[in-house]
Amino acid sequence: MKAVVWEGVNRVKVERVPDPEILQPTDAIVRVTATAICGSDLHLLDGYVPSMVHGDILGHEFMGEVVDVGSAVTKIKVGDRVIVPFPISCGKCWYCQRGQTSLCDNSNPNAKLAETMWGYAPAGIYGYSHITGGYAGGQAQFARTVYADDNLYRVPDGLSDDQVLFLTDVLPTGYMAAENCNIEQGDVVAVFGCGPVGQFAIRSAFLLGAGRVIAIDRFPERLALARGAGAETINYEEEEVFDRLKAMTGGRGPDSVMDAVGMEAHGTGVGGVADAVKQTTRVLESERPHALRSAIMACRKGGTVSVPGVYGGLGDKIPLGAFMNKGLTLRTGQTHVHRYLDVLTRHIERGEIDPTVIITHRLSLDEAPHAYKIFKHKHEHCIKCVLDP
Ligand code: NAD
Ligand code: ZN
Repeated sequence: MKAVVWEGVNRVKVERVPDPEILQPTDAIVRVTATAICGSDLHLLDGYVPSMVHGDILGHEFMGEVVDVGSAVTKIKVGDRVIVPFPISCGKCWYCQRGQTSLCDNSNPNAKLAETMWGYAPAGIYGYSHITGGYAGGQAQFARTVYADDNLYRVPDGLSDDQVLFLTDVLPTGYMAAENCNIEQGDVVAVFGCGPVGQFAIRSAFLLGAGRVIAIDRFPERLALARGAGAETINYEEEEVFDRLKAMTGGRGPDSVMDAVGMEAHGTGVGGVADAVKQTTRVLESERPHALRSAIMACRKGGTVSVPGVYGGLGDKIPLGAFMNKGLTLRTGQTHVHRYLDVLTRHIERGEIDPTVIITHRLSLDEAPHAYKIFKHKHEHCIKCVLDP
């Protein structure tokens, strides 16, 4: 089959690789009908996530048709049309039992390696380095999925792939980020970053009762899409965000602020660990305003800062003093995707949220290297690329 593989910093390639096989009785094989590139994939592209190996298959946002199941799979059947949540849940551990599936204790076979490096082990994630389990990703024609009964989510026939694909990640991620804001009716919510995650965070904030949403980015087309959802916008390259946010909220600051940016590369990178270190440091000390820092500074006293943006790597320059003295609440995490699938599917069916608005590009799997490039650099007004395998 064909698959998109990581070949080093800023290098991806489409290769012929062996078809995946059932390895455990709880596995299922999915023929991928649609897959997307995520902002989190850019952290792999930029070399910020340790333990990527040349030839690793990328992709954690994918869906398709089940074509084979292991002997212990009872609920999922061959022929089912499913989406695959990006974090892998075993369905049984302390966290999974509490719906905190992105903290699963059993789905990462490389947990010991992760604990040695970081002191904790993340859950398994498809296509996201060996430290999250070394699972092959779904930017491919077929994918092996694990704990099929506890993860694969059957989608209604009446909804198209475009409508449900983002249930795998960015839609629930925006939703959980908004939920983490503890929004009260009429609240003012600010969202740094108008990429796919920010777009769904904006829409979810309104669904959860926000009176006003203020969205911040530097790309006019992303700001325009935010305005389309009813947000007021600030272009941080043209205006002083902190002052504007204060002025727009009677001097107090927004009730809650989301950082839907995370780590963003500021250079092209040359590859290797040393370069990844340099790149990470550059992001954290960059000439551009750092989104998380700005979010903490802008939030009103007693407010909530919600961070769907991904951080990792080698250092964090968080203004802890402001954080402490302002009595802020910080809520964050990889998304517990499974928990939101029913409620979001209903929102899509009722037309209350339209996930397709973020799609700007549809390309073949062969065009993945180009897709990664335009999505990373936001060229061709790219907001989200869907790949057809
Ligand atoms: P993206 O790269 O398309 O969007 C990021 C946006 O942030 C861009 O539009 C960029 O212009 C903007 N930006 C950069 N610096 C900014 C600043 N200082 N102020 C305001 N805006 C700024 O990526 P995405 O797909 O929307 O993902 C966003 C983040 O969410 C990434 O870090 C990604 O890894 C993370 N993510 C987290 C989860 C989770 O489970 N928590 C899931 C998916 C994605
Ligand atoms: Zn993602």
